[in-house]
Order: sequence, then C-alpha cells, then structure tokens
Amino acid sequence: QACFDRIEETDDQVNAFLTLNKEAALEEAKQLDEEGIDADQFLLFGMPIGIKDNIMTKDLKTTCASEFLSNFEDPLYDATVITKLKNANAINIGKLNMDEFAMGSSTENSAYQKTTNPWNKDYVPGGSSGGSAAAVAAGQVPFALGSDTGGSVRQPASYCGVVGMKPTYGRVSRFGLVAFASSLDQVGPLTRTVEDNARILEVISGVDEMDPTSANIDVPNYREALTGDIKGLKVAVPKEYLQEGVDEEVANKINQAIDTLKELGAEVDEVSLPHSKYAIATYYMLASSEASANLARFDGIRYGKRAENADNLIDMFKQSRSEGFGDEVKRRIMLGTFALSSGYYDAYYKKAQQVRRLITEDFEKVFENYDVIVGPTSPTTAFKIGEQIDDPLTMYANDILTIPVNLAGVPAISIPCGFHPENDMPIGLQIIGKHFDESNVYRVAHAYE
Ligand code: GLN
Repeated sequence: QACFDRIEETDDQVNAFLTLNKEAALEEAKQLDEEGIDADQFLLFGMPIGIKDNIMTKDLKTTCASEFLSNFEDPLYDATVITKLKNANAINIGKLNMDEFAMGSSTENSAYQKTTNPWNKDYVPGGSSGGSAAAVAAGQVPFALGSDTGGSVRQPASYCGVVGMKPTYGRVSRFGLVAFASSLDQVGPLTRTVEDNARILEVISGVDEMDPTSANIDVPNYREALTGDIKGLKVAVPKEYLQEGVDEEVANKINQAIDTLKELGAEVDEVSLPHSKYAIATYYMLASSEASANLARFDGIRYGKRAENADNLIDMFKQSRSEGFGDEVKRRIMLGTFALSSGYYDAYYKKAQQVRRLITEDFEKVFENYDVIVGPTSPTTAFKIGEQIDDPLTMYANDILTIPVNLAGVPAISIPCGFHPENDMPIGLQIIGKHFDESNVYRVAHAYE
C-alpha cells in the first residue's frame, strides 16, 4: 500500500508506470501477512518490485512501450524471471515505462509518456529502462527489473543515482523477455543498495530449460561477497574510458572513486581496451540486425494491433507495421535489414562479428591479470528532455562505455559516485567483472558504497 501511495503522490510528475497491478498486489500482500514471515525460506518475502514492460507478465498488460502492443492485455505466460520472483514471494507492483522495444537511451522513444528524472524533472532518466530507474530513485518501489542490451540497465541507473546490474550473458534466463538483440539481451536488477541488488540477482539467476542460452553454472550466494574487504584485489582502469568525450567533472569523480578503492587496499593500474572505439559501430550493426529478425514476428496476426483497412495480406503486414512501430524502431529495422542483405552481409554484419571478437579479446587479455575493470558508466550525466532526441548519432554515443560489456558478455554494475557540480545530476561508477564473476563485481561495489 505504501508503494501505491507513493506512486499516487509522485507519478504524475515522474511518469514511470505504464500499468499498475494494484488489486492483485494488495491481495497477495494480504495473504503473505496472514501466512507470516519466513524470510529464510523466501529471499524476497513480501518485497514490492516494479517490472520493465518488455518482460512478460501473465494476464498483466505488456506493451514494450509500443503502439503495436497497446492491446496486449493478457499475455499467456510469465517470463522465467517473474516465475522466480513469485516463488521467492516478491510482489509485482506494476509495469514500467521504457524506450519502445528497449531501443533508446532516454525513454523518450516510449509511445506513451515521457518519464522524468526524479532528481530534476527537466532531465531524462536515461534509457531504455528509464521507468525502472526513475521508479526506484523516486522511492516508488525499492526494486525494479530492467533489461540491458547495450547499457539499458546501467546507464539509467547512473543517470538516476541508483544501483543497476547487467549480469553475465547466460546468467539470467531470457525466456519471456521480449527479444531485441538475442545475443546481447540480459535482464538485470535496479535497486537502491548493492545488497538489495545481490539479493534480487540471486533469485532470478540460473539455468532454464526454456532458454538454451542460459548457462548451467552454479549460482553463488552473492551476499557472501559483501564483506567490505578488497585488500589486494587487482583493479584495471582502461585509459580509453577517461579520454576525450568524457566530461571533465565525470572523470574527476571517477578518479576520486578510484582513489577510494586504493585507500581500501585495491591495487590499481592503467590498462588499454584498444578496440573500444569500434564498439558503437559494431553494436549498431549487430543489434539492429538481430532486431530486424526478432521484430519480424510483429505482423499484425499473432499478437498486437492489426491495420483495419488493408486490401490484402501483404498490405496488412505493411500497414500494421507502419502504424504500430515508432520512428526509432523503424530506423533499426531498416538498418538491420540492410546490413543482413546479400551483397552487404560480408561488409557489415560479418565484419561487425569479427570486430566483436576483437573487443571480447581486449577484455580477456585484461582479465588475465586483473579482477575487475572500473570506469564511468556514461561519458556524461543525464541530459535535458528533448536535447538529443532529433539526433540519433549523439543519442547512440551515450552508450560508448556500456556497449563493449554487452559485446563481450561480461557482467557490470553501475553504482552512484557523486554529483556533477554544474547540474547537480548523479554520476555512475561502472565496475566490470569476468564472465560469471558477479561476486567480485558486487564485492567491489559494496566496499565502495
Ligand atoms: N541505447 C542502446 C540502444 O538504443 C541500448 C539499449 C538497451 O540496452 N536495450 O540500443
């Protein structure tokens, strides 16, 4: 009830929620109250959580913030992460705004509403999980789930001053996450503290027979890593992550955070991730190619809206897609279809796959000698609503420091590390780990926090 009261009080300003699950959530809470608390058995007993609207929730509207799915009122099943949250007795408070089909960095690509940054409502919350980050920052829910294909959990977490984790690719089942770029997508938690985050990840992680890309690797008790002790831990700082393009004040705050890690006993060196500069070009080829294939299922027949005045089948596909998708989604579909077309495939798609390997190898080399890599999450703080929306290339550049992580499939967290002295907006510290070593990422994040 406290969550719904807070939402009532603040959401006409924040615009984080697309759908509330009020009746069912209050009923569930009541039942849990009657059962009594058994916190050891259920890691999230009675804990309220908000869900990004590209994660399928049985019988609860799931729109991906797209006009196309505006009538998708009653999905037939829960995503695996939702089933796991239910089994841990968490309570779904409702569905959160996002960029349409998770394409964007400001949540301005939602077909429904503009979410604002709770620290200053002239600013974007980041994206594409902007609703999730804003809801947590505004105190509407203590936890939320987002999805991160190129930075969509970490960048909004950074812009809204909360904690956001992108797990290792394969750590969390993607079953029921509406696919954007299947080789990059992961679900991740947004929370106020590192401990909360570790708790949620523990619940949603693990192999799933419904997702063949989920990894059959034991899920550790991440909370055991939260000791505060990072003495002797080896930390790498890539020089490319503090170079031109990174706001001077952001770099200052990151350097202060690195000093703190040194004071805590970590050994810090500068390293290089030389192929980082190709990450954006590589990502936009690959992610758009995968998106163009994944979004082919939206044909107006199986789910979503169907154009009403078409003369024949082909016309109906065309009209449904023309009416249902927004500009950014259409841009990605065109870009991806082009990159995959015969004659261009080798020059664009295949080339991008090769560069992806080089980027992955950059990380592998550094991780031969270091436990974690740290740097900024984003080159700047949040920008103003409307400032970048007409300039896709500038918008794409926001993800230059988060995208390499998705291309390599490694885990990374963003945690708050201060405020920009000019606009007073939060700055995020990114901590990147080895494949399936979320524990050390949490260890460093918690020690710093
Ligand atoms: N901003 C990036 C994009 O627009 C990343 C999105 C994401 O991680 N879902 O594709």
